[in-house]
Amino acid sequence: MSARDLGRGPVVAIIGGGFSGAATAFHLARLLPAGAADIVVVEPREGLGYGLAYSTADPSHRINVPASRMTLISGQDSHFADWLEQTGAILDDAEAIAANGALYPQRRVFGRYVESYLQPFLFGKVIRHVRSAVASVELSGRATS
Ligand SMILES: Cc1cc2nc3c(=O)[nH]c(=O)nc-3n(C[C@H](O)[C@H](O)[C@H](O)COP(=O)(O)OP(=O)(O)OC[C@H]3O[C@@H](n4cnc5c(N)ncnc54)[C@H](O)[C@@H]3O)c2cc1C
Repeated sequence: MSARDLGRGPVVAIIGGGFSGAATAFHLARLLPAGAADIVVVEPREGLGYGLAYSTADPSHRINVPASRMTLISGQDSHFADWLEQTGAILDDAEAIAANGALYPQRRVFGRYVESYLQPFLFGKVIRHVRSAVASVELSGRATS
């Protein structure tokens, strides 16, 4: 894949669409002016935001820090916990609530949360998900400072 394959402005290629890659794509998409760049995430998994940690389907696999300390948006500590409440994502999961009231949803739920914020950008083709594994990277053209 090259910039020419996409045809528009500069290409920001993000290798890996786990939490870090998905968060990078999300913040670029929301902060850059419309059409400023083609944001491409190369990730072999079906969804973006799941990665190794949050793609497990085993319901006993839970996040290991409380939901109130996990967020896609730094400075908004309760962003994930608010999403859980708004979407009812753990309504049928009594085990997600610890004795002290802290929330520990299944890990996959965190992936769904991240993915849900990318989805509008994926539908709008602001972010493209290329479902593949990168085998090599080549430097072409000249770096500018
Ligand atoms: C089992 C486990 C549980 C965890 N639980 C928590 C938790 O509850 N709370 C917490 O804060 N942190 C937790 N972590 C830490 C967690 O790893 C980070 O929160 C975060 O998910 C790391 O994101 P990442 O994008 O760096 O890696 P990942 O999310 O693993 O993403 C890397 C991605 O790169 C892709 N990739 C790899 N090679 C290629 C290639 N050649 N081409 C294209 N794509 C490629 C992979 O498919 C993967 O999706 C946990 C980690 C593990 C391993």
